[in-house]
Amino acid sequence: MTEAVRQYEPVIGIEIHVQLATRTKMFCGCELSFGEEPNTRTCPVCLAHPGVLPVTNAEAVHFGLMIGLALGCEIAPSSIFHRKNYFYPDSPKAYQISQYDIPLCTGGRLGDVRIHRVHLEEDAAKLVHAGSSGRIHGAESSVVDFNRCGTPLVEIVTEPDLRSAAEAAEFGRLLQATLRRMGVSDVNMEEGSLRVDANVSIRPAGQASFGTKTELKNMNSFRFLERGIEAEVARQEQLLAEGGTIQQETLHFDPEAGSLTSLRSKEEAHDYRYFPEPDLVPMAPTEEMLVRARAALPELPAARAERLERELELPADTAKLLSFRSELGDFYETALAADSDHPRRLANWTINELTAAVGDGDPADTKLEPPVLARLVAMVADKQVSASAAREVLAVLIAKGGDPAQVIEAQGLGRAGEEELGDIVDRAIADNPDAVEKIRAGKQQAIGALVGAVMRETKGRADGGEVQQMIRAKLGE
Ligand code: ADP
Ligand code: MG
Ligand code: ZN
Repeated sequence: MTEAVRQYEPVIGIEIHVQLATRTKMFCGCELSFGEEPNTRTCPVCLAHPGVLPVTNAEAVHFGLMIGLALGCEIAPSSIFHRKNYFYPDSPKAYQISQYDIPLCTGGRLGDVRIHRVHLEEDAAKLVHAGSSGRIHGAESSVVDFNRCGTPLVEIVTEPDLRSAAEAAEFGRLLQATLRRMGVSDVNMEEGSLRVDANVSIRPAGQASFGTKTELKNMNSFRFLERGIEAEVARQEQLLAEGGTIQQETLHFDPEAGSLTSLRSKEEAHDYRYFPEPDLVPMAPTEEMLVRARAALPELPAARAERLERELELPADTAKLLSFRSELGDFYETALAADSDHPRRLANWTINELTAAVGDGDPADTKLEPPVLARLVAMVADKQVSASAAREVLAVLIAKGGDPAQVIEAQGLGRAGEEELGDIVDRAIADNPDAVEKIRAGKQQAIGALVGAVMRETKGRADGGEVQQMIRAKLGE
């Protein structure tokens, strides 16, 4: 007899580091770096020369407050910075200024996921591994670029509310879209301005308490995040099935090999010898600061999706797609303001045809004007042009601009008229006696050959359903 396979439920909590798009660094006046020559954006403060004093960046605090308010957090009346001590060459001070037990924001929620806390801190320098070309005394060496050192970061920590890899990726995308909409960060995962760590554990279905968690570090896309969590859940399940126990540790997921490697056993808070930063005053946001942060918040993606769904009766997925990429939502809503007769059809054209043409780009950067898209979609709805011909028209409008009616006229893409279509159908019937024979014998699929012939002849200027109807009528079916 085999024992029933035990069902486990994944439990996941996310920690996200966001580089803030401020003009200057967290505690000094150095401008943020965007790929400048190494070590050109530094000063005595961020290089930790003796005797220097940090000063908190007001713009970073403003962004931190915006994020906290957007996530519905409680803002601490007075929060303080701590020193998180560690020794590694990416930190000239040998500590990071971060926040510990009194963070700027606590509590909150995004979608169904509770936010544990949001705090401000500073980024470390970047180690560049010179490899074998940079040998010193025979050993491979690394060099340090301090440009990134002291870049303002916000760390957002969720409660362990996520229950699958897909949910975690979905949450990450919503958070990314939200931060992007607020304009507080570039949120570019590949460039490291958004860095995601996932804490993963599993527990037998129905058990209330959590299992031991491991931490997956620094996945640089949401697709890898999802695959990494899936791999880690599978590893933990296997380990428990074999009678083993989960060790608390930090892991690296290699997306190419699909493998997980242990980086280190997990450190505890006391390993960092946290103590209050004596060189900084507490952050005590004034009412004026809070009012300003609240006023700076635009409509956020979750609220926009909810509004599009409610007011325009768009399907939830469609509303989400338009809201998670606000440039699509903006284009859509501007088009809709010009012609509000076809909200669903216009939405479908925006998320399907338009994105197929512009990829990840912004449709506003093309020659196509939003009201022109609305006009084209209205022509499809009014059967002045077939959907497939309209796709060709769209390609022209995106590349060259202009008016749909003119493009249709110039390229002969107008819908085939009743008479023209009738002639073409007659010809198709005459040219395909075999197919006609089969249809008459009851083989309905055979009509596809005739429809195909007509569509080829009209170069897509006819509607497939209509062609099919006409063929049936002519065959007396
Ligand atoms: P640590 O002290 O190890 O940093 P925290 O309690 O601060 O742990 O939690 C860090 C992150 O791990 C949070 O996102 C939290 O939701 C998540 N987390 C905590 N416990 C678990 C668990 N058992 N399984 C999965 N995630 C967890
Ligand atoms: Mg932690
Ligand atoms: Zn500096």
